[in-house]
Amino acid sequence: MSGLLSALLLRRSGWRVDVYERASAALIGRGAGIMTHPELRSALSDLGLDTTRDFGVPIEGRLALDAAGRIVGRKPMPQIATSWNHLFAMLMGALGHAHYHLGKDLLRVSQGEDGVTAHFADGTSHTADLLIGADGFRSAVRAQYLPEAQPRYAGYVAWRGLADERVVKPVLTQEVFERLSFSLPPGEQFLGYPVAGPGNDLRIGHRSWNVVWYRPAEAAHEVQRLLTDDTGRVHEVSIPPPLVAKSVVEEMRSAAARLLPPQFRAALHLIVEPFLQPIYDLESPRMAFGRVALAGDAAFVVRPHVAAGVIKGVQDAATLVAALDEHCTIDTGLRTYEARRLAMGRRYVAQARRLGSYLKYSFESEEERAKAAFHARPEQVLTETAVLDFLQTP
Ligand SMILES: Cc1cc2nc3c(=O)[nH]c(=O)nc-3n(C[C@H](O)[C@H](O)[C@H](O)COP(=O)(O)OP(=O)(O)OC[C@H]3O[C@@H](n4cnc5c(N)ncnc54)[C@H](O)[C@@H]3O)c2cc1C
Repeated sequence: MSGLLSALLLRRSGWRVDVYERASAALIGRGAGIMTHPELRSALSDLGLDTTRDFGVPIEGRLALDAAGRIVGRKPMPQIATSWNHLFAMLMGALGHAHYHLGKDLLRVSQGEDGVTAHFADGTSHTADLLIGADGFRSAVRAQYLPEAQPRYAGYVAWRGLADERVVKPVLTQEVFERLSFSLPPGEQFLGYPVAGPGNDLRIGHRSWNVVWYRPAEAAHEVQRLLTDDTGRVHEVSIPPPLVAKSVVEEMRSAAARLLPPQFRAALHLIVEPFLQPIYDLESPRMAFGRVALAGDAAFVVRPHVAAGVIKGVQDAATLVAALDEHCTIDTGLRTYEARRLAMGRRYVAQARRLGSYLKYSFESEEERAKAAFHARPEQVLTETAVLDFLQTP
């Protein structure tokens, strides 16, 4: 997302841009849902993208269910749930394929007075005036310039998955399906909401139900166990969705039987391939290195509770291009970009860390636990995760 957004904005500002993607086949987001803020839609509209039609599923508000499945909290809060696939298709449609190169795994960057060169694993390289490392939370660009800046495990994992509307409808009421519906087992958080079905299908009956279940997991052994596939191979940092071990999925389903309201428990059983992601925080102390900039998750990884990953990428791209337009050298433009975005990145990380503070596996003190418990109350969860008072796009 951040790479495509940066490319589109730079191109609009007169740059010739090429995007290099490591994956050798077209990317797909496994239908993952992306909750949006109005600021994201207006930023995409500024780019000339149409967000008025087929952008996503409108959600009127939020619900909290207790363990018995009774609705114990309601909050009107309109939001649109779009999907990773839809956003990606919109951005790719605008960029076109001529300057998008698959199968280009960046190994390292070298730079001098006249330019910056990207060196790829296939032995090729490309030299340009400017390089943007928008290569996600395990960024090779960041690893080269800031080897000490590492993602920090937050103390919990997110189980995710999708079920077809027709399949889950018999076990969920219309109201629960169509809202952002939460359940809050002690120290955990489950949420479900409707998203477009395959092929961005927004018709009633053809949508999907998107689930995220945050569960504490001890760092040293438990996470390693969760990331071990059926062949015994331990995956570092994250595991590809199809490889999550069957026994780990079964365990999750039996925890659901103990902890979740009957509707969610039944719906979770209908999700064919649930997958899990450990949750991390990452803060980079710098974002500009001569002719090289970091953007998006390569620079700051924000826990999902504020649903801000994509808007943060948009803001990074917009700020970067504005700073380059204002300055006559790339170096000063990038330093201005860094000065404007570092503090913002820290604010996002801090806010999301606060909201997720009660989900972690262990606490330093009873005081810390009590402070975190404030954010576990249904009335907090129903409002806090949608409110970012610092979201205005630059
Ligand atoms: C459970 C969960 C729920 C979320 N929900 C939301 C939400 O509701 N709303 C929201 O806005 N955000 C959400 N996010 C966050 C959002 O998905 C990310 O913030 C966003 O995708 C980051 O975009 P990015 O382009 O910066 O990085 P990425 O999406 O990680 O993209 C990086 C790209 O770089 C490529 N790459 C990596 N290394 C190399 C290399 N060496 N050479 C070449 N290419 C490379 C990768 O293949 C990838 O295509 C959620 C995240 C999680 C985990």
